[in-house]
Amino acid sequence: MILTAPPCGLLSLCAMHLKDTKLYSILNFKCPVCHEGEFFQAHPYVLSKVGDLHANCPVCHVKYEKEIGFYTGAMYVSYAIGVAVFATVWVAMGVLFPELGVGAQITTIALVMLAGSPLFYALSKIIWANLFFSFDKSRSCAVGRSTAGPVQ
Ligand SMILES: [Zn+2]
Repeated sequence: MILTAPPCGLLSLCAMHLKDTKLYSILNFKCPVCHEGEFFQAHPYVLSKVGDLHANCPVCHVKYEKEIGFYTGAMYVSYAIGVAVFATVWVAMGVLFPELGVGAQITTIALVMLAGSPLFYALSKIIWANLFFSFDKSRSCAVGRSTAGPVQ
């Protein structure tokens, strides 16, 4: 019996395996429909444009805002992310630094939440979009290659 190693390491996220999944769109901030166009106008830590979306996907031209106030529901996702990060940091501090006082714990959690808030805000919007948009492979290849094909 011949065993072959997988093309990617155990701990690395292999892009080949994630391509065409919602996780690929979320982790790369790509359009939830074509997975090629940028979802946000800028990186989440460009604070002047934090969370600003393109009106339409630059590749497949799908309208990102299905209706007025569509992304209001992303606050539920943001709340879930905030609670998950809070609990993770709190448990990690309890395990790694059990002698830490309450004041230091509160300060550490507040700093992590403050530093991560632009990222959590962006993640909540792209996760919310991925709940309501479906990947369409036909939109990713045909339109993407005709307008911005690879240079060879
Ligand atoms: Zn798209």
